[in-house]
Amino acid sequence: MPTRNECVLIVEDDPQIRKFICYSLKQEGFPYMTTGTAQGALSLLVSEQIDLILLDLGLPDFDGMEVIKRVREWSDIPIIVVSARDQDKEKASALDNGADDYLTKPFSATELMARIRVAIRHLHKVGGAKQLTSFAVGNLRIDLDKRLVYLDGAEIHTTPMEYSLLALFFRNIGKVLTTTYIINEIYGIGYGTDTQALRTLMAGLRRKIEKNPAKPRYILTEIGVGYRLIDE
Ligand code: CA
Repeated sequence: MPTRNECVLIVEDDPQIRKFICYSLKQEGFPYMTTGTAQGALSLLVSEQIDLILLDLGLPDFDGMEVIKRVREWSDIPIIVVSARDQDKEKASALDNGADDYLTKPFSATELMARIRVAIRHLHKVGGAKQLTSFAVGNLRIDLDKRLVYLDGAEIHTTPMEYSLLALFFRNIGKVLTTTYIINEIYGIGYGTDTQALRTLMAGLRRKIEKNPAKPRYILTEIGVGYRLIDE
């Protein structure tokens, strides 16, 4: 268990949004630091003990995307990108460059804290001594040792590709995975950016795990970006 509360670095140049994020974190008892520039963020990351970064992409000195690339050269620290609504390409690109998640402006304090908790849980899992091999979300369970999937307690049959896809989601539970990332993991790098095969595969998997595949409760579509297995 952590012996101290994780410190969140807020990188945001908009004073209103920064104030809102600070207030939300204070309510939950999270220590935080703030900066309005990319350069400020990089300096604080070197001098302070920071556990998670909330990063606005549009910063006055240089692009937040550049911050992600530079940080990823030396650190696995969780990065949650804060992005505007109409910038789906930017979100996907941030994730492909190593960001862990994103929040779309405007967001609620509840949404903000939920994303922070998911990122922090992953942080502790990575350092955990024992690798879990069985995961469950609601009534959906996967056993990575036996390569079996259960729904409502009964084993369900999946094709090898459907199984690989589902296992990928369970290994990244709660995290949004970009279409490009999934295609590279499932079909291999060099397969290209043809998303039709993935859409077909996803439809097949959803028919098996979702009561109503049109309104999925387990694997949600993140429009323009990718998919996310919910973390309950
Ligand atoms: Ca900004």
